[in-house]
Amino acid sequence: MNTIEIKDKRFSISISSEEIQKEVTRVASEINRDFAGKNPLFLSVLNGAFMFTADLMKKITIPCEVSFVKLASYQGVTSTGMIKEVIGINEDISDRVIIIIEDIVDTGFTMQRLLESLGTRGPREIHIASLLLKPDKLQVDLNVEYVAMRIPNDFIVGYGLDYDGFGRNYPDIYTIVTE
Ligand code: 5GP
Ligand code: MG
Repeated sequence: MNTIEIKDKRFSISISSEEIQKEVTRVASEINRDFAGKNPLFLSVLNGAFMFTADLMKKITIPCEVSFVKLASYQGVTSTGMIKEVIGINEDISDRVIIIIEDIVDTGFTMQRLLESLGTRGPREIHIASLLLKPDKLQVDLNVEYVAMRIPNDFIVGYGLDYDGFGRNYPDIYTIVTE
């Protein structure tokens, strides 16, 4: 499938599942190398990061835990700037090495908010692993240490990412077609 339609929008394939898997494998090996002996707690940000998290975690070979948080800031195709609270942290993260797993860092405001919230709970370290980064959109000073792929500013769906709730199920990533 080279193009898909979701509601009123058309999308064409931009990153194949093979390419995604290759970069996810690379990120996993970087994390395995950097966090050996640190028993990290991966915190996956739902909903968007679910597929990246599943594929990444299958390639993590060091002792670790994984848990899920939720926090949403997006409606339709533009950021509303409205950021909800972080929910679902049941673990004691004090003195833990945390690796946040995110689908995409766009302006970076969502990640900044999450870092602030987690920071009040006394973690030893917080690191960020993001499937995607839009470097030209980043508006805050963030160190996104682990990035599978850097992409242009266009809106994308697939591999966990949605348009109005749809499109998360595709194994490939698609970019919006603007006529
Ligand atoms: P930020 O706060 O960094 O601007 O936005 C981060 C969130 O916006 C991401 O976690 C994701 O949910 C959503 N987002 C940003 N860019 C895109 C995109 O191109 N496609 C989709 N589906 N969501 C996006
Ligand atoms: Mg997200």
